[in-house]
Amino acid sequence: MKHTILVATTNPGKMRELAEMFSELAGEIEWHSLRDYPNTTEVEEDGATFAENAAKKALGYAKQTGLWTIADDSGLAVDALGGQPGVHSARFATEGVGKLPRQEQDELNNRKVLGLLKGVPQDKRSARFVCCMCLASPAELLIQTEGKIEGQIIDTPRGENGFGYDPLFYVPALGKTTAQLSSEHKNAVSHRGQAAAQMKPALRELLKLA
Ligand code: IMP
Repeated sequence: MKHTILVATTNPGKMRELAEMFSELAGEIEWHSLRDYPNTTEVEEDGATFAENAAKKALGYAKQTGLWTIADDSGLAVDALGGQPGVHSARFATEGVGKLPRQEQDELNNRKVLGLLKGVPQDKRSARFVCCMCLASPAELLIQTEGKIEGQIIDTPRGENGFGYDPLFYVPALGKTTAQLSSEHKNAVSHRGQAAAQMKPALRELLKLA
């Protein structure tokens, strides 16, 4: 019998990405998304850390639905900005403003980061994407993992793939921004990909016991 696991997202792209990352467990898991549970109340991401937000979301939706739930929280941390935008990555430039189209939102965020980094030399522009991923049952947090990818912020956007801060996030080890990577390549090296890869063996063990 398959185990049902809820992914705490309404975004079909994110859902697909996660199912791909866990494809080795496809025979054992039936994935649901929040779209299948329209009566759930939104869990607010008001924690001070990615870990707090991911745990709060996973537990919040697990309790509401009675299902094992995976949630993640991710963002960009720029050293020269004291770790900003951090947990505020999604709405960094538009906190308090109504919902904007994704592309517009991304452009404003990117412009704000570049504005704040004006005059900061390239060798002081180190940054990382961080992703914390949690699995919770309705009773408790079961697994918590964290993935990171190191890079630096460049002034001129490069690449057409990805989303968010990807065109500004240059990974010296790859000689490319994350917007210049195919989705398969990005999943293999990204913060989210690494958090998922760490979760896989622990999830496999838990499914055996459940
Ligand atoms: P969330 O974890 O989906 O809430 O993402 C938070 C925000 O962090 C996104 O809206 C983006 O601005 C940023 N972010 C997270 N992961 C990535 C990534 O892989 N590329 C670019 N931006 C990202």
